[in-house]
Amino acid sequence: MYEKYFAELNDNQKLAVSSPEQTLIVLAGAGSGKTRVLTHRVAWLSEQCAVSPYSILAVTFTNKAAAEMRSRIEQLLGFPAHGLWIGTFHGLAHRLLRAHWQQARLEQHFQILDSDDQFRLIKRLLKANNIDDTMWPPKQVQWFINNKKDEGLRAKDLSYHSDNYNNTLINIYELYQTACDQSSLVDFSELLLRCYELLQQNTDVLNHYQQRFSHILVDEFQDTNTIQYAWLKLLATESTCLTIVGDDDQSIYGWRGAKVENIYRFQRDYPNPQIIKLEQNYRSTGNILNAANAVIANNDRLGKNLWTSGHDGEKITLYAAFNEIDEARFIAARIKDWCEQAGCRREIAILYRSNAQSRIIEETLLQSNIAYRVYGGFRFFERAEIKDALAYLRLLVNRNDDAAFERVVNTPTRGIGERTLSELRDHARSQFQSLWQAASFLVKQSHFSARANNALQTFLTLIDSMQQRTADLTLDDQIGLVIQMSRLVNAYEKEGSEKAHARIENLDELINAAAQYSNEDSDMTPLDGFLSYAVLESGETQGQADEDCVHLMTLHSAKGLEFPLVFMTGVEEELFPHQRSSEDLQRLQEERRLCYVGITRAMQKLYLTYAEYRRLHGRIDLHHPSRFIKEIPDDLVDEVRPKTTITKPFGHNIKQRSLRPSASSQQHSLGFRIGQTISHPKFGEGVILNFEGQGSQTKVQVQFADTGLKWLVAAYANLTAV
Ligand code: ATP
Ligand code: MG
Repeated sequence: MYEKYFAELNDNQKLAVSSPEQTLIVLAGAGSGKTRVLTHRVAWLSEQCAVSPYSILAVTFTNKAAAEMRSRIEQLLGFPAHGLWIGTFHGLAHRLLRAHWQQARLEQHFQILDSDDQFRLIKRLLKANNIDDTMWPPKQVQWFINNKKDEGLRAKDLSYHSDNYNNTLINIYELYQTACDQSSLVDFSELLLRCYELLQQNTDVLNHYQQRFSHILVDEFQDTNTIQYAWLKLLATESTCLTIVGDDDQSIYGWRGAKVENIYRFQRDYPNPQIIKLEQNYRSTGNILNAANAVIANNDRLGKNLWTSGHDGEKITLYAAFNEIDEARFIAARIKDWCEQAGCRREIAILYRSNAQSRIIEETLLQSNIAYRVYGGFRFFERAEIKDALAYLRLLVNRNDDAAFERVVNTPTRGIGERTLSELRDHARSQFQSLWQAASFLVKQSHFSARANNALQTFLTLIDSMQQRTADLTLDDQIGLVIQMSRLVNAYEKEGSEKAHARIENLDELINAAAQYSNEDSDMTPLDGFLSYAVLESGETQGQADEDCVHLMTLHSAKGLEFPLVFMTGVEEELFPHQRSSEDLQRLQEERRLCYVGITRAMQKLYLTYAEYRRLHGRIDLHHPSRFIKEIPDDLVDEVRPKTTITKPFGHNIKQRSLRPSASSQQHSLGFRIGQTISHPKFGEGVILNFEGQGSQTKVQVQFADTGLKWLVAAYANLTAV
């Protein structure tokens, strides 16, 4: 079966796929077929070398990539590859922890703490321990803890100095870990560290997997961090066959601890690897590829030369939008053009540097009736109502899950006040108990007022009876009944608002998701499996693969993927390169690699857009085109200006390098300025977006809260400042 596919590879790819060497490194630029080599190699090993899929472990960076890799391999093989392990580092670590929870010193039904839950837990801990959260902001503490874990360090491995700031961080880390262990909660970084310790401390488990996985293959190797590398090194013995593929120009997770040096370290730790380079790009047109090459050439690097035998294709279109709304409308219009010329929506990606950029784009796509799907960012499973429902389910499997307890003990309200809760927390802390244990104990003692006691008792009984009544049900019925018994829906029905209505629909959608969920891992109950899936995989794999939707995602989550039509948006100084990165050379180079990743996602057509004014995080700033745009040779780019010379009234201001234009320089002759909130006698309140024309002919564009976007003749519009 496989042989006919082998012919589709170029010579170097063939060499890599069929290499008899024990250690193989494929180092090559974007779109040169690295991932293709990896999938073919799995098929080759299985078909030509009689290696059982059971002995193969393939690691990649996102769940979406993992799912695609599996389907591609099965297509090459012509049959389902049962027993083959493909996943992300996190997903695989999770799987191992489920299978060996006892040796990992976890409870069987341990739950995963997502980063929002982690943040809340840290916040509560700081408060409970009277730690000043202005000195030790929870976000910073969170970053500190995760960073140490990614380095493989526990609190006990860190040394105290005379520095109080540092010492307190270490103490919080310790407190945090104790709280997690008590509640049997595992955060993302803990998955990796705990799994590493599991293997390191349990020789029998380690031996088993070392023997089982005779072949290990890793994609996107440039973005492995310390703990992932250590994990690999444990699993791969002297006799393991290792294939790693990567591109040092696409290392974009340095800020999260990824170490591109791991590529060089690997060559020391596994001597005499065969190194194969691929130089032909099969993904992008000549113009796109040349633009990418030109940008990345500005970094310090070893240097690779990518070429394509394909045609130059269209030039890259650069659109200077007036503001983010104009940018979004331009994109929507180009998408309509594409679809009218027989393209489909699923061929299109809109990429942005920061999640916050997606909202306006989403609104505009909605208005234009263009179906889209957001990957990552604010995900379905992160919505408040969904997390509430999941918290009930988590309590069913683990009563000691304090994060879940806190979340739903009074949601919907059942008369359990902050005072009762704070007594509960105090008791729990002093007795080293979970909130559930403390509540059970104190209720029995009739510790609280009769009302509070009753309310708590009702909650405890509710959870117990949820468990009894759902024990024999299928997963979706189980979840349906829990939602019903929780009375979450009733609470929203009472609220009656549009938003509440949407929340009810989302809860229905959760039941649908459960009905579609299939659990292949026999080490977990369906409910455990589903709860883990909700945290680990939801953002990337949600939605039907065959849905015809435009893809929206950050540049970071686009890596490894490709789309015929790509919009790279917000290509502005301060935003991209990100403000925090522009002064630090290392970080700036990482941003440039991110730009390279973005450009090289495009196969046929690439649009770059930037806005002169952008409202972000509640303020309007004047932006300049990104330096990355200037790094692309002019002859590869077609520049489009908006039809009207919209910046005319403040043209003198555009060159000025200022973050926030002062009100006077922005002021239009009519006394209004862009970004100002005004009121109109008929249309109500709105925000000024744009001016056009001069004197009595001046028109003003306003985004009204109720009636949307309108152009008005300023002289007659009767606007008043709000
Ligand atoms: P990235 O660095 O972005 O992850 P990559 O090196 O992994 O890219 P692939 O995704 O494997 O590249 O391949 C890029 C595209 O080129 C894919 O559509 C792939 O099918 C195609 N391709 C790769 N090799 C060949 C080949 N020999 N003939 C035809 N098409 C190829
Ligand atoms: Mg790839």
